[in-house]
Amino acid sequence: MTSAAYLSRAGQKVLLIEKNSECGGLVNSFTRDGFKFDAGVRALEDAGIIFPMLADLGISLDVVKSPVSLGIENEIIHIEGQESLLKYSELLLKLFPESKEEIDNVIKIIRKIMKHMDVLYGIENPVFKDLKRDRTFIFKKLLPWLPKFIFTVGKINRLNMPVEDYLEKFVKNPSLRDIISQHFFKNTPTFFAMSYFSLYLDYFYPKGGVGRLPEVMKNKIIECGGEILTDTKITRVMAEKCLLIDQNNATYNYESLIWAADLKMLYRITETEGLSQSIKSLSAEAKSKFLKNRGGDSVFSLFVEADEPLESFRKIAHGHFFYTPSKLGLGEVHRAELDNLTGNFDKVSKEHILTWLDKFIRLNTYEISVPGLKDPDLVPPGKTGLIISFLAEYELFNKIREAGWLEEFISEIESRVLKVISDSVYPMLKDKTIAHFSFTPLSIENRVGSSEGAITGWAFKESMPVINKIQNSGRSVLTPVPSVYQAGQWAYSPAGVPMSILTGKLAADRVLKQKRSS
Ligand SMILES: Cc1cc2nc3c(=O)[nH]c(=O)nc-3n(C[C@H](O)[C@H](O)[C@H](O)COP(=O)(O)OP(=O)(O)OC[C@H]3O[C@@H](n4cnc5c(N)ncnc54)[C@H](O)[C@@H]3O)c2cc1C
Repeated sequence: MTSAAYLSRAGQKVLLIEKNSECGGLVNSFTRDGFKFDAGVRALEDAGIIFPMLADLGISLDVVKSPVSLGIENEIIHIEGQESLLKYSELLLKLFPESKEEIDNVIKIIRKIMKHMDVLYGIENPVFKDLKRDRTFIFKKLLPWLPKFIFTVGKINRLNMPVEDYLEKFVKNPSLRDIISQHFFKNTPTFFAMSYFSLYLDYFYPKGGVGRLPEVMKNKIIECGGEILTDTKITRVMAEKCLLIDQNNATYNYESLIWAADLKMLYRITETEGLSQSIKSLSAEAKSKFLKNRGGDSVFSLFVEADEPLESFRKIAHGHFFYTPSKLGLGEVHRAELDNLTGNFDKVSKEHILTWLDKFIRLNTYEISVPGLKDPDLVPPGKTGLIISFLAEYELFNKIREAGWLEEFISEIESRVLKVISDSVYPMLKDKTIAHFSFTPLSIENRVGSSEGAITGWAFKESMPVINKIQNSGRSVLTPVPSVYQAGQWAYSPAGVPMSILTGKLAADRVLKQKRSS
């Protein structure tokens, strides 16, 4: 959508093709029984990208801050500013009094990384500024910032190892380690994981739901003369002819194509016949690299409609809440034990899986979003909607579906999550839940066509299949196929909404540059 908005604003003939009936993918809100829920991301981080992009495109979006609370067992803190790091340290100390030195070390690292983040997001991202005209920005902001940025990038690149390995070096207490890191994707680069405290302060929420962001983008695209074609899935790319084919065999010619969806899919459906041998081999190489890699972790989301006023929930935590009901930590439950289940699925009984599920649900960390606490218009009067989610492994859900008991598994998860959350932080959910339903990693795969139901692109591995250094991000949008660019969460790692937007702008810039030079 970012690419389409920028290219149509630049006067190009733009067609945005979307397989679903509405645009936005993992940035989406929907209404059920009068409750508005967010289907994907629960709140947005500016990251020096989203607000500059909106300002540059002249889009207004009504937003509120989306404050975060953190809770472990009965201890809950509200993150109000950088000084809340002290409250976090006290919370950890209360739960792990024997680990003072280790906690001090963790806090020291988080503080250091917060300083790096202040530099990284210290100015509006220059990609969204008009550098030819905005001389004040260049001389007052960009030039003074650049040396600090280069220095910081060097430091960040040295913190690229998986957060689990990094923490293991100086936090010997495994429960403490888990409590700090278990809600991050497996092998998240240390810098990205430990920068979360800064990101908590950056969250904002569009009034009306996060789905307002794609709505305003859509309006902009149409206002600038771009066309949007929904319910249309691209099933073939004939690269030599610059032709796309959809599920109904309709064809679309392109001069430039920006592929802003799953990259495994792009290479599976791209035909390179007729192109030069060198392009064919580069494309085959890219295809094999992408197909060998996996999408990252997925998520299970339980949506709850409760006959209980917002006030009862407001007294406990903010509308964006990371909650861990037990300080024990997941240990090997989501690692070796889970690998054992998926690796030996045929030999494992249903009872065994459900016993594992008990532990997994009891010891996990939950991201709980209460949209009505951010915007009270999103719920019927006197009622509250909640989204309770946790990271989930696609493979397990897929195997259980193949084994024919997916619906039963989902209902087993739902009842356990409701029990754990109502036995701990929100007791009112026990009697006041009117209705509930959920989305699994399979729903995500199905809805946005994302490999392994991934919610932020590629799984973190030692060698990433895409660019993963910020100083090289300009090249992240290039593909070996002529006139085809890539954007979105699969084009760069680590990704999320801001990076998807940034790559969308970078791809649009490349297309404009190519047009100017031809
Ligand atoms: C529960 C959850 C929490 C999250 N939390 C955060 C967070 O805190 N911070 C953050 O930054 N990010 C977060 N994310 C991730 C973020 O939402 C995504 O990384 C981002 O929205 C990806 O955007 P995208 O446009 O690259 O891809 P998508 O949103 O996947 O969009 C791709 C679009 O392409 C369409 N499409 C796919 N294949 C085809 C085809 N063949 N033909 C036509 N159309 C096709 C899809 O339908 C979809 O609309 C979260 C995601 C989830 C689900």
